[in-house]
Amino acid sequence: MDTPRVTGHREALRRLRLVMAGSGSAEERLAEIVRIIAAEMSAEVCSIYVLRVGDILELFATQGLNPDSVHVTRLQVGEGLVGTIALTAEPLNLPDAQQHPDFSYRPETGEEAFSSLLGVPVVRGGRVRGVLVIQHRDQRTYSDEEAEALEIIATVIAELIASGDLVKEDDRYLAGDGLAFRSGRMAGVSVNEGFAVGEAVLHAPNISIRQIFADDIDVEHERLRDAMTAMHTALDELLSSSSLHGAGEHQDVLDTYRRFARDRGWLRRIREGIDSGLTADTAVQQVREDTVARMRRVSDPYIRERLTDLEDIATRLMLHLGGEVLNRDLPDDIVLVARNLGPAELLDYDSSRLRGLVTEDGTATSHVSIIARALGIPVVGKVDGVMRNVDTGDRIIVDGDNAQVFVRPSEDIEAHMTETLRAREQRRSLYASMRGLKTVTRDHVDISLNINCGILADMQWLEETGADGVGLYRTEIPFMVRSEFPDLAQQTRIYREVLERADGKPVYFRTLDIGGDKQLPYLDANDDPNPALGWRSIRVGLDRPGMLRQQLRAMLHAAAGRDLYVMFPMIAEVAEFKKALRVLEMERARMGRHIAEPPAKLFVGAMLEVPGLVWQLDALLPLTDFLSIGSNDLFQFMFATDRGNPRVSDRYDVLSPGMFAVIRDVVGRCYSAGVPVSLCGEMAGRPIEAMSLLGLGIRSLSLSPSLFGAVKAMTLTVNTEELRAYIDTLMTAPDHSLRRKLSAYAHDHGVVLES
Ligand code: PEP
Ligand code: MG
Repeated sequence: MDTPRVTGHREALRRLRLVMAGSGSAEERLAEIVRIIAAEMSAEVCSIYVLRVGDILELFATQGLNPDSVHVTRLQVGEGLVGTIALTAEPLNLPDAQQHPDFSYRPETGEEAFSSLLGVPVVRGGRVRGVLVIQHRDQRTYSDEEAEALEIIATVIAELIASGDLVKEDDRYLAGDGLAFRSGRMAGVSVNEGFAVGEAVLHAPNISIRQIFADDIDVEHERLRDAMTAMHTALDELLSSSSLHGAGEHQDVLDTYRRFARDRGWLRRIREGIDSGLTADTAVQQVREDTVARMRRVSDPYIRERLTDLEDIATRLMLHLGGEVLNRDLPDDIVLVARNLGPAELLDYDSSRLRGLVTEDGTATSHVSIIARALGIPVVGKVDGVMRNVDTGDRIIVDGDNAQVFVRPSEDIEAHMTETLRAREQRRSLYASMRGLKTVTRDHVDISLNINCGILADMQWLEETGADGVGLYRTEIPFMVRSEFPDLAQQTRIYREVLERADGKPVYFRTLDIGGDKQLPYLDANDDPNPALGWRSIRVGLDRPGMLRQQLRAMLHAAAGRDLYVMFPMIAEVAEFKKALRVLEMERARMGRHIAEPPAKLFVGAMLEVPGLVWQLDALLPLTDFLSIGSNDLFQFMFATDRGNPRVSDRYDVLSPGMFAVIRDVVGRCYSAGVPVSLCGEMAGRPIEAMSLLGLGIRSLSLSPSLFGAVKAMTLTVNTEELRAYIDTLMTAPDHSLRRKLSAYAHDHGVVLES
C-alpha cells in the first residue's frame, strides 16, 4: 500500500495492519480500528462513515458516540460536516465544529458534547469511499502531524472498504461506487510540451503483503538476497533493452538509478528490519514508507529525486519478493498519472501506448522527465492532488503546452481538444513541408532560426526542424542528475556527441547556469534568501574557477577541429566577462601546451540577462564575438517580477513599450559595434512576440523546437520594414501591453500567427 508514515504513529499503523490481516468480519475489524485510532490519538471520539449507494454516508463504526447510532445515522453527501468532507474530498480541522455553518445536529449520536473535530475523506482510486472523524470535548486545533496521521490511517481503511467485505450483497444497501470527483481542469507546470488524450492509469503499485512477522529470520534474509539478485538481473535487462538506445543524459539517469539499486545504507536498513522480526516484504515496505515520509519533508529537488529512485526500487524489490500488482490490464492510450516515479518505472510501460504523463511532484529536471522527453511524450508536473482526483480508466487530456490537464472532460471539452489535436497535427505537417524553405521575410530579410536544447535527445530536432543551429545549449542537466560532479571525460563525451549530432551547424554552449533553485548536492549548500538574485550562474563559476575551467576544457577538447561557441550566462558587468574570458584563455593556453587539437575557431559571447549590462555595452561589445539576450531573466529583473511565481509572472507583458525600448537599444548598439545579436528566451518561441522582435531589428532567434514551425510560418509572412515603422509609432504609448495592437496589425497584414 502506498502509505506515507508519520513518525510517532508507527505503532498505530502497525496495530491497524495487524487488524487488517487478522480474522473476524470486516465490521468487527472496523470496530476494532476505531478503538485503536481513538486510543492512539487520545481522541474521545473516532467514527467511520461509509459511502453507500444513493450518495449516503452511513455511520459504520464509532468509539465515543452513542453505539446505537451505528447504521442509524445517515447523511447525504454535502450534508453536515461529514457530508462536506465527502463532497469536497478535503479534510476539515475545526476547534469549534458546532459553529461551522455546515454543522448539522444529529441528536441520536450524542455529539453535542464534543467541540473540536478533525475529519478526513477516505479515498481510494480517486473516489471518496467514506469519511473518518476524530473529536474532542475541548476546543483544540489539531496539529499538521495529527491531520497527516489521520489521512494516512484513512488510506488503510480505504483498503478495507474497497475489499467489498464490509457491505454484503444481501445487505439492505449496496456499497456506493465511490464519489467521483468533479470533472475539471487542473493546473501544473509544463515539463514537456505537447498534447495527448487518453485513459488514465494510476501508477500506484498496489502490493499486498501476506505475512507481517517472520517465522524464520534466516529464511527472510535468504529471500531478500534472492530477490535482490533477481531484481538486479531484471533491471539490467530492462534498462538495456528499453527503447532508449544510444548515449545521452537519459543514460546518465539510468546509470545513477542502477547505482542506487545497490545502495548499501538502504539495504542495511532493510536487513535491520528483518533482524527485528519482520518478513522481508514488511521490512522493505517499512523502509519504502520511511522514504516517502522523508520525501515529503525535503524540499531540495535533487534529494527528492534520489528518494524517488529509492522508492521505485523498493517497489520493484517487493514485486520480486512475490507481491502482487493490481491493475495491469492496460489501455491502448495510456496517460500515466503518478505522484512521481523513477525512470525505470516509466520504461516498464509499453512506450508505443504511452501518450502522456502527469505527476504530482516532478519538475523539468526530474529523472523521469528527462526520460519522458527522450520518449517525446508531453508531461505536466506539480499537479497538486491529481492522484486523489483521478481513477484508472478516467479519460484525461494532457496539455503540456499550457501546463494543464483535463480530468474526465465533458464531451464538449474532449471534442474540442481532439479537434485542437487534429488541427495541430495538420499544422505540423504543414510546418514539416516548410522545412526546406529558406527562412526569409516578405521584404527579403534573412532570418536565422535556431533551437534551444538541454539534453542530447533534443538534438534530433535540428534535423527535423531544419534549424540553422542550436542557439542555446543549457549544459546544467548532466550536472543535476548525478550524485557527484561529472568528470572531464564524461563532460567531453557529452559535448563531443552534441557537436557530432550538430553535424557542422553551430551550437552555442552556455556554461553552467546553476545555483538559485538549481542546487547541486555536491556543491556548497546554498540557502540564499532570494535565489534569483543570489549565488548562481557565472558567479558560481568565477568563485569556483576549477569547476568552470574543467567545463571549458571539456568543451575545447570536444570541439577538436570544429568551431566552438561559448557563452557566459548572467553577466552583470564588463569586469565579470573579462574574468570569465581569462579563465577560458588559460584553458586555451594549457591546451596548446598539451598538443591537443584545438577548435577550428573559438567564438565567445555573453548573455544579456541583467539590465545593468545594457549601460555597459559600449565597453563590453568590443570584447565579445556575439551577444545573446536571455529575455526570461532580463524581463524578470527589468520588471522585478519573479518568473517562477505565477502570482506575479504574468503581471506585466513582454510586449510593452519598456521592454521594446531596451531591446531596440541593444540591437542598435550591437549593429553599430558589428556584433551579432540574438535572443534565446521564451519570447522567441511565441509567434506574436517573435514577430515583434523582428520588427525591433532582431535577425536571429533561438527557441523551443516544438514552436519552430509556428515561428517559421510567421517569419515567411512578415514584412519587417513595415512592421518597424508601425512599432516606431508605439514606442511612446503609455499602454500596459501592446499585444492587442500587434495582433490586429498581424491580422490586417496577413502575418500568420498560429502556434
Ligand atoms: C533566459 O533567461 O532567457 C534564458 C534563456 O536562460 P534560462 O531560461 O535558462 O534562465
Ligand atoms: Mg537565464
